Amino acid sequence: MKNLYKLLLKAYGSVGKWWPGTSEEIIVTAVLTQNTNWKNVERALENIYKNKTKENLLEYLYELPIGYLSELIKPAGFFNLKARRLKNLLSFLKEYDFELSKIKRLKNLREKLLKINGIGKETADSILLYALEIPVFVVDAYTKRLLKRMYNINLSDYDSVQNLFYENYPKNVKLFQELHGLIVEHSKAVCRKNPICSECKISDNCKKSI
Ligand code: SF4
Repeated sequence: MKNLYKLLLKAYGSVGKWWPGTSEEIIVTAVLTQNTNWKNVERALENIYKNKTKENLLEYLYELPIGYLSELIKPAGFFNLKARRLKNLLSFLKEYDFELSKIKRLKNLREKLLKINGIGKETADSILLYALEIPVFVVDAYTKRLLKRMYNINLSDYDSVQNLFYENYPKNVKLFQELHGLIVEHSKAVCRKNPICSECKISDNCKKSI
């Protein structure tokens, strides 16, 4: 498992920070991307920008009536639910005047984010890692599946998977950003629900394929 980063990096090349957009956009797309694909997230974001009337994206969305926000983010699916979740998150950020540098310095920030209705561990950690550049590792279903297939590590609990990465890798923002990105890219390319092992560039190191 210690070799995963090097293997993926060699196979796919650098993906850098991977999650596109400004910090403000990442905060919004972290919610929009729940249970949908990235194309739909982009369409929702385009709608927002077409109608944006304020400089600060977060402040603009905070001030929008929730019904209108739902309309704008419709392409992302579950739009009423996501509008409520976004509003909850934006209300929290508003307490700190949407100043991300101030928010980044808050004590127990992860716990605070997790107390917001609709913000789970994957969303909170995505915001921390990609928007605020705090070294937490983002775990998703792809990560769990890859660990099981490659290393016979069968962990379903989010924190146990995250801790495994902390035990095996230094806590480094750039590394965690890129490693999570590489896992997603690899899982979409070949290590799908029905894996295409014949086309996998890291199959020599995978327990499932041996
Ligand atoms: S060999 Fe197959 S199961 Fe293993 S990582 Fe590659 S695609 Fe996934």
